[in-house]
Amino acid sequence: MVREATTSSPSARPSRRIAVIGAGVSGLTCAQGLSAAGLDVEVFDKSRGPSGRMSTRRVPALSVQADHGAQYFTARSALFQRQAEQWLEQGVVAAWDVVIHQVDEQGREAGAPRPPMHPRYVGSPRMSALGRHLSAGLTLRPSVRITSVKEDRADRWWLFDEEGRKYGPYDSVMVAVPAPQAEPLLATRPRLAALAAGAAMEPCQTLMLLFDEPLGVPWDAATISGGALAWVARDSSKPGRPPANVWVAQSSAEHAEEFLEESPDESRVRLLAAFRAVTATTATPIWTTAHRWRYARPAMGTSNEGLIAELDEGLGVCGDWLCGPRVEAAWLSGRALSERVLERS
Ligand code: FAD
Repeated sequence: MVREATTSSPSARPSRRIAVIGAGVSGLTCAQGLSAAGLDVEVFDKSRGPSGRMSTRRVPALSVQADHGAQYFTARSALFQRQAEQWLEQGVVAAWDVVIHQVDEQGREAGAPRPPMHPRYVGSPRMSALGRHLSAGLTLRPSVRITSVKEDRADRWWLFDEEGRKYGPYDSVMVAVPAPQAEPLLATRPRLAALAAGAAMEPCQTLMLLFDEPLGVPWDAATISGGALAWVARDSSKPGRPPANVWVAQSSAEHAEEFLEESPDESRVRLLAAFRAVTATTATPIWTTAHRWRYARPAMGTSNEGLIAELDEGLGVCGDWLCGPRVEAAWLSGRALSERVLERS
């Protein structure tokens, strides 16, 4: 039997009540835009906190933190540049003045180092700080995995979670989750569900490491060509991080695809060997852990390129998979969706 978790009585219900599914950059940006216009917004996320893929693993007992999703972001559009500068002034982000090297799987230089042409921003003091900032003032419902979205005959929307709880009614629902997770939530609007079905996403495996001494690696960040890894960086070199020797290594999409179903421990061992080869280190880390991102980034060239956000009679969709594998794209998408909702209000 369905247990109702209706959050306010219909008589007390304001005229526009919106549910946003997904507390990543896109969902939070959309929610902020709607909330700023006076709409009553609730944000659901299956995780314990906001931020989505812009997140940070923390182990307080070891005083460790590691950005294990997005590593940094840039701002190409004038709109997002203005936003990034505002976050910079507020201290929510900082510029990471890093030169990115290009090396091969044995750590040999494989191209010219790339100094920043545009500022590379990171959340401060950790990547997830931006999600926290974007969720300020919003009603957040963490640890709730929504499994279906339904519309009744009175055009009211209801959400159902994996425990069978029911939430609503809402006037509109915004779906801000990766495409494969969005598809079932968009079932009432086949056109939107088809968009999500057409957007492939690539996986990534991340290794986080803590050493008790510097490794002597001559760079703080590098893209890796060939082999299991695509990126290695000294996370502690980012501004505002605690003094420590924390490193993050990320696999290529091809490697993650091949070993997608292995256990976290198997990934840890495999990625550690690749990390040792790239950094030429024999030091033993005092802490390591691996994380699998099943849906890390939208594959380039998906059929949805050119779209930014879609709204179809009460059901909206946003996220990086609509317009590009970047934080900026997620922000632009969430912003565009909130504007579309407000235009039609
Ligand atoms: P997400 O951040 O994925 O937010 C979606 C949220 O929905 C998540 O919090 C999830 O828990 C929640 N959710 C999913 N399903 C449900 C459900 N059924 N019910 C409730 N909640 C649900 N971008 C850059 O610009 N630069 C980089 O260097 C960079 N590196 C990256 C490295 C990695 C390893 C990864 C994974 C991503 C990287 N990205 C990078 C991409 C960037 O992180 C994303 O583009 C951006 O964060 C996407 O935001 P989003 O809001 O669209 O989705």
